[in-house]
Formats: sequence, C-alpha cells, structure tokens
Amino acid sequence: MNRRLPIYFLIDVSESMVGEPIQQVEEGLSTIIQALKTDPHALETVYVSIIVFAGQPKTLVPLQEIVSFYPPRFPVGSGTSLSKGLGHLMYELRSNIVKTTYEQKGDWKPIVFLFTDGVPTDDTNSAITEWKQNWAKTANMVAISFGDETDTKILGQLTENVLHFKNTNVESYKEFFKWVTDSIKTSSVSVENNSSEFELAKIDGDVITKIDPTNPLPNDQQYVDDNFVVLSGKCQNTKRPYLMKYSKSIAPSIYAGVELTSKKYRLVGAYQVDNSYFELADEANTNFKINTEELIGSPTCPCCGNQVAFAMCGCGKIHCIGEESVSTCPWCGNQGTYGYGEGGFDVNRTQG
Ligand SMILES: [Zn+2]
Ligand SMILES: [Zn+2]
Repeated sequence: MNRRLPIYFLIDVSESMVGEPIQQVEEGLSTIIQALKTDPHALETVYVSIIVFAGQPKTLVPLQEIVSFYPPRFPVGSGTSLSKGLGHLMYELRSNIVKTTYEQKGDWKPIVFLFTDGVPTDDTNSAITEWKQNWAKTANMVAISFGDETDTKILGQLTENVLHFKNTNVESYKEFFKWVTDSIKTSSVSVENNSSEFELAKIDGDVITKIDPTNPLPNDQQYVDDNFVVLSGKCQNTKRPYLMKYSKSIAPSIYAGVELTSKKYRLVGAYQVDNSYFELADEANTNFKINTEELIGSPTCPCCGNQVAFAMCGCGKIHCIGEESVSTCPWCGNQGTYGYGEGGFDVNRTQG
C-alpha cells in the first residue's frame, strides 16, 4: 500500500453557517473531490475525512480513499463547540493514523483544514492544550476564518497557518475551494519530495489572506456569537424545524444632534433544516435573549409557506402561523389564537 496523506476537514456547521455558506461548503467539498479524482498523484495518496461540529461533533465521512468518496449533505446545528470539534478530531486521528514503525512506513503527516465562521461558544483551553501537546508537531493544521469576525487569537494558538477568507459571493467560494484543491495537490507531491512538510498553494488576490493571529482583537468572553442572530422555529404544518437568520448591521441615527449607533439585525433568510439540527445542538440550556425591535424583516415559513414564520407561543418557542383561526404550537401542543401585538418582545436566540 502507498503511504497515505490523510486530509481532515473540520467544519463549523453552527447556525450562522446556515444558508449560502453551508451550501457553498457542500458544493465546494464536492468539487474538491471531483478535482482530486482526476489527479493521479492525489488519487494514489490522498485520503479524506469530514468532521463537522456545532454544539456537538460528528464524523460525516470517515477517513477514506478518494475513489470511493461520496460527497455528503451537510447538517446545521446549534452552538459552536470548537473544543468538542477538536476533541473529536483528535479521537479520529488517534484511531486512524498509521504510525511509522520499524516494520512499516506509516502515513504522511495529516493535514487538517479547519473552517469556522464564528466565535467558539465554549471554553477551548483544554482542547487547545491537548492539541499543542499531542498533535501540533504530528499534524499540520490550516485554520480558515470565514467572514470577518472569527476569534483568530484562538485559531492562532492552534497553528501559525491562520487564513482569512472573504466569503462575499459565489465567485469567492469558487476561488477559495480551488485554492484548497491546489494545496492538497501540491502537498501530495511535496510529501514525497521532502518527506514531511506540506505545501499550501500560492495565495493571490484578496479573497484569501494570511493573518497575524497575534494582532489583538476585541475579545469579549461572552459565549454568544454576536454577528448573527439565528432564531429557531418549528413549522405548525410539517413539524419540521427551521432557522431564521439575521445579520448585524450598525445603523447610525441622529438624536438631538448627536450621532448614535444602534445595533440592528437584518433578515438574511429562513431555512428549513433537518432534525439532525437537534442532534448536533448543545444540550446545555441557552437563555440568550434578543428583542424583536432589534430585528428588521420577518420571513414566511420556509417549510409550508405560511405567511408568518415568527409567532411565539406562551411556551417561549417560535412557530409559523397561517390563516387558521386556532393555532397549535408544534413544540408544546398548546392551542391559541394570535393577534398582532404592538412593540417589541423578547425571544430566545440560539448561540450561533
Ligand atoms: Zn410552516
Ligand atoms: Zn408552545
């Protein structure tokens, strides 16, 4: 058997990834595999595994050769537990990596691509310490922050390869995944030429940039991702869960001649998700609140098309309502009628 080059994708599938990002990642991974299938070098040496994490981690694809690789569908879950994601990655590495011994040549140094778009919602210290002690020298990690506000300081503790990916449009995703593909190809050649090091493809343009993680960033130790507000609801008709995603927009306003900035969140979209959403959610009870006055835009139900996706039952959960005179809450079973209230009210938001 050839020496394998194991490639691990450790991918954040927290709620802020819902919509375009997760769809682009899903397509991107599929194009990477397609491209590697036509590369004889990669075909011989590269093995790929995909691990996702939200509040919980999960192996989507166990380490396998490219030929038999079938691109998976990506789930979305609640929370961003980087520590559980890392813990699960290290477990997979321990179980799968073939060590070099007197009798056999083991695997090449594994390469881990970590994609994350947010701030961990849990304490990462012990997982990072374990990574540094046991894996930092025996695996190569490339940490890529999607969008603007990842906690790059935490990523910088894991690896010196911290990159920023400006995921503004479909073209940028194409460019990004091409770069990942090229990096895997060049690495599959370079491991054989200079034994242990990997080689990232050249970066040009401004879609991907290397960042200096020692640069201080505002780091509020608040375990909630502030760039997006994601609210979860359940469809009254289909009983399926859905997510409503809002992104931060700072709106300046003038009050008595003084400029004030008020934080508002604008609707990005509403998305139906699988029941695996609950499986990947953090079991810890979350109690983050947002007032509806901070939210701009109200979606229709992405599951059944009901006009209002944003009705809140007395149980505190959100569901859709249509033209029925009596609504039944799909969470608690309570029945009731809805009027349209004035002013804002507090709703539970997810951790992101
Ligand atoms: Zn519905
Ligand atoms: Zn209810």
